[in-house]
Parts: sequence; C-alpha cells; structure tokens
Amino acid sequence: MDKTAVGINKPGLCSHRLDDTALARNFSDAHPPLSRHQAQIEAERCYYCHDAPCITACPTGIDIPSFIARVAQGNERGAAEAILTANPLGGMCARVCPTEILCEQACVRNSLEDKPVEIGLLQRHATDHFFASQAVGAKPLFERAASSGKRVAVVGAGPAGLAAAHGLARCGHAVTLIESRSKLGGLNEYGLASYKTTGGFAQQEVQWLLSIGGITVQTSTQLGRDISLAQLCESHDAVFLGLGLAGVNALGIAEPPLSEAMDSVEGLRDAVDFIAELRQAGHPRDIAVGQRVLVIGGGMTAVDAAVQSRLLGAREVQIVYRRGPAQMGASAHEQAWAQQNGVQLRCWARPLELLSQNGRVSGMRFAVTAEQDGRLIDTGEQFELAADMVLKAIGQQFVADPVAAQLELQNGRLRTDEDGRCGQTRIWAGGDCRHGGRDLTVEAVEHGKRAAIAIDQMLRG
Ligand SMILES: Cc1cc2nc3c(=O)[nH]c(=O)nc-3n(C[C@H](O)[C@H](O)[C@H](O)COP(=O)(O)OP(=O)(O)OC[C@H]3O[C@@H](n4cnc5c(N)ncnc54)[C@H](O)[C@@H]3O)c2cc1C
Ligand code: SF4
Repeated sequence: MDKTAVGINKPGLCSHRLDDTALARNFSDAHPPLSRHQAQIEAERCYYCHDAPCITACPTGIDIPSFIARVAQGNERGAAEAILTANPLGGMCARVCPTEILCEQACVRNSLEDKPVEIGLLQRHATDHFFASQAVGAKPLFERAASSGKRVAVVGAGPAGLAAAHGLARCGHAVTLIESRSKLGGLNEYGLASYKTTGGFAQQEVQWLLSIGGITVQTSTQLGRDISLAQLCESHDAVFLGLGLAGVNALGIAEPPLSEAMDSVEGLRDAVDFIAELRQAGHPRDIAVGQRVLVIGGGMTAVDAAVQSRLLGAREVQIVYRRGPAQMGASAHEQAWAQQNGVQLRCWARPLELLSQNGRVSGMRFAVTAEQDGRLIDTGEQFELAADMVLKAIGQQFVADPVAAQLELQNGRLRTDEDGRCGQTRIWAGGDCRHGGRDLTVEAVEHGKRAAIAIDQMLRG
C-alpha cells in the first residue's frame, strides 16, 4: 500500500483512503472500448432491420443499422459521420446513454434467449476512431456554410448549448457561447461519473465542436448577473437557453443547530457538488470521503455519488430512498451496478433528522414508509443509521430568476413548443431547463440540435 493511504477503517472524513494503484483501477473506464476485431464481430450480430426500432428509440434518431454496417466493413470514419450528423455529441452519448432503456432495449435481439447488439460500445468504437484520426490531422467531417450575417447567443455550454452552438455555426451564423463556469461542457465536464468518461474526453469533444468555427466563447459570464436576457435579445437575432438545473432541492428536515462560525455540519454535502469536485480534482486521492456514507435519493445522481464513494474507499455506503426500487429514477441496470460495487439499497425510508456530534455528521434518523392507496405514508416505525457523511441527491431544480420576467414556466421549467421556442419570442430553450424532458444527455443534445434547425429556418425567413 502507498504510504499515504489511510485505509477504509479510519472513521470520519478523509482523503487518501486507498493507494494509488487501487484508485487507478477503481476509476478506470467502467466499460472499456472494443478492439477493432471485437467491434467487427459485434457489428455482424446486427440484423440491419428495415424500419429498425432502435432508430426510433434513440432520441437523436441515429441511423444505427447504417453506422453498424460501416463498422462491419471497417469504415469507421463513415460510421462516425452517420453518428455525428444525427448527434454531434455522439462520442459522449456512446459513453453515458442508459442504452438499456433506449436503443438497446429496442434491439430485436433483446429477448430472453439473446442479448441486444452493443450499440453504445459500437458507437464509441466509431467515434473514438474518428477523434483519434482528428488528433493526427485527418480531414474534418463537416464544413461551415458561408456567413449568414446573423448573430445568435447561446447561453449555457452543456450538451444542449453545445449541440445548438455547433448546429448554428455549421449553418453560417455567428454564435456567442456564454457560460457561467470557467470550463465548457456543463454536466459532461462537472457531473457525469468519472468512470463513464475518462481521459479528459469531455474537453476533447468540446474542442472538436468548436473547431467548426464561428463560435465566440465567453466563460465566467453569468446570465442575470453579468448580462441580461433583454441585452442579449437586443444584440442578437435569436437566443438559445441551455441553462440546465442550477438549484438543488432541500432535504426539508431538521438539521442540527450551527455555531456562528460554521455554514454547514461537517460531512453533509450536496451529491452534485461532491461529484463535481471529484471530476475536477487532479487525482481522486485528494477527495475526502467518509467511512460510512449515506446517500439520500433514488436517481442517477444518487447511484453515481454512492458508487464513487465506494471507489474512493468508503467502507459502508447505503442509498436510502423513500419509495420502492420500481419507483427509483435509477434504472434496474443502474441499481444492479450500485450493488455490484458494494452499495446497499435501502428503500421505504424517509429522512427525519440529521444527527451530529461536535459539528460533525454522526447519522440520520428515518421514518419507515409504505404506500397506501397510491399515497406515501409513514408507518410509525423509525430507525437510525450511523454515518460520517451524508450526500443529498434528492433532485435539482431550474433557477428561473434570470429569465422569469420574460418567459413562461410550466411545472418550474421553461414552457416551449416542440422545437423549443418560448412562445412567440426569438428565444429557444432546450435540455434540462425545458419542461417535458427526461433529463438525459442525449435528449439535451436533441433539443439543441432541433432548436438550431428551427432558429436557422426562422433567420432565413
Ligand atoms: C450527477 C449526474 C449524473 C448524470 N449522469 C447521466 C448519465 O450517466 N447519462 C445521462 O444520459 N444523463 C446523465 N445525467 C443527466 C445529464 O447530465 C443532463 O440531462 C444533461 O447534462 C443536461 O444538459 P443541459 O445542457 O440541459 O444542462 P447542463 O449540462 O447542466 O449544462 C447547463 C450549463 O449552463 C450553465 N449555466 C447555468 N446557468 C447559467 C447562467 N445563468 N448563465 C450562464 N451559464 C449558465 C451551467 O454552468 C452549465 O454549464 C446526469 C446528471 C447528473 C446531475
Ligand atoms: S445516442 Fe445513445 S440512445 Fe442513441 S444510439 Fe447512441 S447510445 Fe443509443
């Protein structure tokens, strides 16, 4: 063991729980890429269905049989062209799409006797091959159209904003891409689990998207603080908002009283902040994690926070969710992934009180819940779990303040038409900030892509 590693038995929050060899193994690619030989064998499993159901199941409508046929022929560049034409962030989606509920679920080979074609891994094979060829100066896939003389502002550089900016720039419009953080990528850079996107791929993809030309980037610039929506509408012909969900839901329970010097109990954190810190850390050894971790919530964020806590060396990690496994936001596949990584799932429990000692988290008290006539009720039973870290993963919310004066909301997110247009304005929105989506990377990309097409049509009259 590395002499700095403290091991999994040290109580409290601490970094360096595991040695570097263990951390390197834990944070390597969860689904390693296929070799060319493996990819060709897998590609030959495709039936190349006419009216392939996988195409409809992919939110970006990639022509899957066509790209797979090209992989089978050893034409990876052609395969990448088919993928990136429909989905400019096809490299990231290949890594993070929950394919088990999207394209691979629809694959006709997905039956009791057989497993689906591994569409995600084949997509990754083709796009990785293409990005590697770009690094050694291969001809670009797409060229920018002649300048239209029109200006479009894109606010938020997550998957929705990046897809919109790339699509608009390709059409010849001058794009101003405004982002409040210091790096582009949104949750591709700050949110997705480290083991899903290794080796700085998010920034490699951003650089490729920007290489189309015509995109002026303004980082560390926040809509509502540094610039207003009215100013953007004034200086641009159209605006696209890809603002994501900047707010975090509160636990809504009693928390211990704090002394004036403290702004939080030590060990209590938002899961998204913990994940972002890990993604931005120079090395995972620098991230402090508890020995016993409780993650409150039931979605993808809860699973990612719990699994990464285990991978950092936490001895016991439990996800506590107020309803049953069937109601969890995380798919059965993700729940199984958490369990394979030693995370315990504890359902039908609602947090009542955070427990602490000397300003540090010591555990949590829960009410046992049940469903009665479709309603969640407390049964009257209670229990306590000891913990030195509690991660809150009970959902995020749209922060409407910068746009609330001009735009309409629906259930707390932006109301738009099918193309993402906000009423009769020259403003479009997409990704998580738009009402009616499934909060997936691939859907955010589709929103950005569709809005770019609609904005281009509007600008060309
Ligand atoms: C922890 C976690 C794990 C996830 N894992 C997966 C996964 O494995 N697979 C999957 O498909 N989906 C996953 N998701 C969901 C997916 O990441 C989102 O659906 C997707 O990123 C939404 O894209 P977006 O562009 O709408 O928003 P975001 O990616 O959130 O990007 C929004 C951008 O807007 C910027 N911004 C916000 N407000 C302002 C402002 N006022 N001014 C300027 N800029 C602003 C933000 O800084 C950010 O860069 C995960 C989400 C989380 C939180
Ligand atoms: S983008 Fe996602 S859903 Fe679409 S084909 Fe690729 S992996 Fe499947």
